Amino acid sequence: MSGKSTEEELLEFLYACPVGLIECDLAGEIALINPHAMQHLLPLAGGRDAGNLFAALEQHAPELRSLATAHEAATGKVCDGHRIFVDLAPGQREKPPQVLACTMVKLGADRLMVTLSDISQQVLQEERLRQADTWFATLLDGVHDYATLDIDTDGRIVSTNECFMRQTGYDRMTVVGCELADVLDADNSGGDLRLNEQVSIASRDGWHLQEGWQRRADGERYWCQRLVVARSDGTAALLTGFSIVLRDVLRRDAAAEDLRRLLTCDHLTGASNRRHFSQVMEREQKLWRELRQSLSLVVLDLDHFKTVNDTFGHPTGDILLRRVAEACTDLLPPRGIFARLGGEEFGVLLPRYNQQQAARLAEDMRVAIENLRIETSRGTLQATASLGYAMLDEADGSLDALIALADDRLYAAKRAGRNQVFKPKAEAA
Ligand code: GH3
Ligand code: MG
Ligand code: MG
Repeated sequence: MSGKSTEEELLEFLYACPVGLIECDLAGEIALINPHAMQHLLPLAGGRDAGNLFAALEQHAPELRSLATAHEAATGKVCDGHRIFVDLAPGQREKPPQVLACTMVKLGADRLMVTLSDISQQVLQEERLRQADTWFATLLDGVHDYATLDIDTDGRIVSTNECFMRQTGYDRMTVVGCELADVLDADNSGGDLRLNEQVSIASRDGWHLQEGWQRRADGERYWCQRLVVARSDGTAALLTGFSIVLRDVLRRDAAAEDLRRLLTCDHLTGASNRRHFSQVMEREQKLWRELRQSLSLVVLDLDHFKTVNDTFGHPTGDILLRRVAEACTDLLPPRGIFARLGGEEFGVLLPRYNQQQAARLAEDMRVAIENLRIETSRGTLQATASLGYAMLDEADGSLDALIALADDRLYAAKRAGRNQVFKPKAEAA
């Protein structure tokens, strides 16, 4: 025997339990909680009473309280795997579980046992499977033209089908044995993953699907659904290569495209809007975590814009905002996103960019803005901007910290005299 008392052993057991366990009364007052449950609950409680289960979850699952009171039987299951979708306010976004499963069991007249577990991954997987189902259904439904090619684990093309030749214009004899990247060098201007990134996700998850631009042998671009599936030798989980399926689809119809623009773009400048920008940031943050690829942010604020409005009028100020957005968008790399974050403030998200690359692009944008000329009845308008930048690594993976750091540096550039990109101390000296 260990020499520990039964109580100690029970506590040890509760402490180590990899599921969140809570005992509380019908009003939610917590009598006992293990560390795992605490981890889930504390970030969700915010300023509310973390000692009361229902109060702590009020914002995310207000229905729990009524579920518990509506359960009239003396004992029994109140809910089983009830899903709580967590939507944390900005500033509290630090790696929370996004979907929790909650099971409540009534043990007596005023006693509940509650378990909480993080099922975010499972929910994600379900979503992927649903997408795959839809995709396969549409694939088999009336589409007869899909190109396939197989690659080995080193990324060399092993075989292709007839349709691949028709769709891409490549000759089978010339592509077999080639590196995948040399043949299908995807155009990523739609903000999509590169093929090799899809392949690395497929090797982890089994498959990956996305839509984006593809180029034919003659250089023509076409919109394409691209599925990458990992192949194994059938017996063990030994990866033997990948199959890639390309489906030439019509670009979303015009109405859907208009709607998409309406939802994702700023009406004045056509740049991405703030909401879309945050969504892309969250997506890219995931890739930063999963693929360990760098991610940088540049923030840009026009200098003395109020004076521009006062001197040249608001409509001319608007024209300047549009011209700035145009000039900066022209400088964007593939997968870069340019967004209007507020009045005369813009953000540039740069996947795969390190600090030096971000600083260089920021400087190019600064010069492009400085070189703009707008002729008006009150003379020529010229403008300047101040810029800051930061890398997600510097912010320990937190998007809020990334934005705050880039902002601080933008204001440092303002204080240092405007019309400049932030310079680190050593350089500034
Ligand atoms: P600083 O160099 O410190 O950034 O000074 P600033 O004048 O640029 O900054 P401030 O924040 O004081 O002024 C921003 C101005 O931008 C005030 C606001 O009227 C103007 N503004 C905000 N949105 C729009 C817009 O959509 N169109 C126009 N023309 N002006 C706008
Ligand atoms: Mg300004
Ligand atoms: Mg401003």
